[in-house]
Amino acid sequence: MKTSLNILFPDAFRADSPRPRILLVDDQMINILTLNEVFKEDCDVFMATNGEHALEQAASLLPDVILLDIVMDGMDGYTVCEKLKSNPLTSGIPVIFITAHFDEVDEVRGFELGAADFIHKPINAVITKARVSNQIALKRQTDLLHSIALIDGLTGIANRRQFNQAIQVHWQQANREKSDLSLIMIDVDYFKRYNDHYGHPEGDECLRRVAHAIKTSLQRPYDLVARYGGEEFACVLPKTAPDGAAFIASQIQTSVHGLAIPHAESGVSPHVTISMGVVTTIPGSVIDNTADLIEAADKQLYQAKKDGRARACFIELK
Ligand SMILES: [Mg+2]
Repeated sequence: MKTSLNILFPDAFRADSPRPRILLVDDQMINILTLNEVFKEDCDVFMATNGEHALEQAASLLPDVILLDIVMDGMDGYTVCEKLKSNPLTSGIPVIFITAHFDEVDEVRGFELGAADFIHKPINAVITKARVSNQIALKRQTDLLHSIALIDGLTGIANRRQFNQAIQVHWQQANREKSDLSLIMIDVDYFKRYNDHYGHPEGDECLRRVAHAIKTSLQRPYDLVARYGGEEFACVLPKTAPDGAAFIASQIQTSVHGLAIPHAESGVSPHVTISMGVVTTIPGSVIDNTADLIEAADKQLYQAKKDGRARACFIELK
């Protein structure tokens, strides 16, 4: 049985792709157990027997798909679906409604609320598995496209678009908490000369190595390094006071220095160096938007260049 199903639906249930995570929501345990039998071999199965628990589980587990009973005591399936779709964290998770019988009005309402598909009781294992597999495959394609859209193709770190999103999120969070937010703008010194002397393939390799060196200098999962443009990088450091930002800047300087990439045309050093502009602020204290934050860091970067490059300049705006 398993073999034939895997031949029918190869994508989502392939042994070499990560096991799909399914959340089963039904107020009748017997229904959950029936569905569990269908999926337990190929998927990691999670369960909830009421709407509140389903919402909690969805937000913490971020499953690949949710199978949701419509008629439940307390919060019904429609309401659960509506809440899932209005939370940015869970809005991308496909929801398949489980209904006792076919009812066109019910299905129209479900699709209007953002349902991906319907499955009718009594559960037919082959149909159920096919529908779930389709949704998982679609979700994985969407996730992949989403991640490609946010990643710089050359260096593999975040791109400008992800930087723009991240700095807004961290700005708002720091504004709510009145906490420090630091930003480091980084520029590779005399990179045009490097490209002219060594050629573009070498230039690309240089950027990849510098990006990696910067990334490994950041320790916390919520610190972000992005390729801001050309040979410019940016680090967003939430909850980071001026001394912390200065420490990270020196770590970055050390690790780029450690690469010892020859740069015959630099004039500053025999190796590739970077200049940095560092700013720490508490949103709303001196500046009140991210554009001004970026401009302040750019000004410090310009100052570092003016002072002789291969260094960092700092400012505290709070
Ligand atoms: Mg029910």
